[in-house]
Amino acid sequence: MIVMKFGGSSVGNSSRINSVISILQTRITNKENITVVFSAFQTVTDSLIEIGNIALKRDLNYKIKFESLEKLHYQIIDELNLGLDIKVLQKKVASLFEELSEILHGVYLVKELTPKSLDYIVSFGEQLSCTIISESMINRGIECENLNASKIIKTDNDFGKARVNFKLTNKNISKYFKKHKMIQIVTGFISSTEENEITTLGRGGSDYTAAIIGAAIDADAIEIWTDVDGILTADPRKVTDAFSLKSVTYEEAMELSHFGAKVIYPPTMLPALEKKIKIIIKNTFNPECAGTMIVEKSKEEDGARRKSDGFLVKGISSIDNVSLIRVQGSGMIGVSGIASRLFTALALHKINIILITQASSEHSICLAVLPEHGEKGKTILKKEFRLELLDKIIGEITVEDNLSIIAVVGEKMRHSPGIAGKIFMALGDNSININAIAQGSSELNISLVISKKDLGKALNAIHSDIIMRRE
Ligand code: ADP
Ligand code: ASP
Ligand code: MG
Repeated sequence: MIVMKFGGSSVGNSSRINSVISILQTRITNKENITVVFSAFQTVTDSLIEIGNIALKRDLNYKIKFESLEKLHYQIIDELNLGLDIKVLQKKVASLFEELSEILHGVYLVKELTPKSLDYIVSFGEQLSCTIISESMINRGIECENLNASKIIKTDNDFGKARVNFKLTNKNISKYFKKHKMIQIVTGFISSTEENEITTLGRGGSDYTAAIIGAAIDADAIEIWTDVDGILTADPRKVTDAFSLKSVTYEEAMELSHFGAKVIYPPTMLPALEKKIKIIIKNTFNPECAGTMIVEKSKEEDGARRKSDGFLVKGISSIDNVSLIRVQGSGMIGVSGIASRLFTALALHKINIILITQASSEHSICLAVLPEHGEKGKTILKKEFRLELLDKIIGEITVEDNLSIIAVVGEKMRHSPGIAGKIFMALGDNSININAIAQGSSELNISLVISKKDLGKALNAIHSDIIMRRE
């Protein structure tokens, strides 16, 4: 079995949907067993969040946005030319929109949009896309069934980014797939609690859905179909010379995506790694391109497509906007427990720490967090360490905004001296100042915090000096 996942960019309009169906038709003709996961149509999840937030403000304009969302879906249905069957589909879609409209009306009336109701609202994106796509496949003579993954993927109630209960989920998936032998058209991104309340797996989570299902049914491969030729050496929107990598390891993919390479959602690698199932990233708009394989060991020995496949640095990625919380004070030296209290205090308030650096003098600890967590984090830490601040064990806690993180990633950087030096030289030559540096203990990644205004220049400098220019 191959689990294929098509992202929003692959199903942005009717002609794209038709291209996807052609890709699927070829696989079916080749007698391949497939399960297909779909995201919402491009921009739909963003629109649903926006509409929910407008309704929350008791602004009737939410109805205008809602109507254009309806129009978008009905236009796609029209363009798909489904003949007489169109009525069946229109009815299904109308009933989904009716339900959505009622929820939005509720948000408007009570002026409340909880993470729980937002998950419910965004779940309509995937329900709509899968309903429309499965119906058009049936119309083209492909026997398939629509599966709402929230029926089988079970999570905790951390709405917005719920954690999967794998024991229950794996059992549900095996049971379901044993009974349903037809091609399954599966909603990505959505799941539910044990009480059957809709949850989501985090933005970009459809990739994860594919891996969860793939691992549970011991698939031969998980294919992520998107709008680029695989994992590239850098974000193509920021580095024009970026090129596609033949293969990367699960860890490299995890590291690149954790630090901003949107092409794959970071948790996707975990279920696949556990079962050693290869993930292949493919381009819907260039299906002939081999794409990138995510495997246990990258295979430069079978003929690297590009020089970089065997090179120490695989790629660079970035998180464009972060804040740096700095806790410093000479009294901290040798005082145990400061770091652990710091992490606990922030974790209690669900503040995710993206990167940590501690000077060897223990004089200061720097934490990179999302910008919306900067001031909040500072306030929490000031409260947690009020006595230490009074006793001057901690001198000050500050926040610096408008920063970016660059991560330089490659498994072969391990035990290879000189890479950090080359990165600093590339930045130094371009007069780019480094605010903080961190290296994961696995030595898989060197991360640098720089000023946001220097990001484009820094990425291009590192890419051209380290990834492009080598033996
Ligand atoms: P989908 O809709 O298929 O899920 P996404 O927009 O989530 O697609 O991810 C694909 C996008 O990720 C690409 O269009 C590209 O702009 C961006 N991207 C960022 N970094 C990288 C990278 N290192 N390699 C490939 N794509 C990247
Ligand atoms: N539609 C969801 C999102 O936009 C999930 C996904 O695209 O993977 O985040
Ligand atoms: Mg995506």
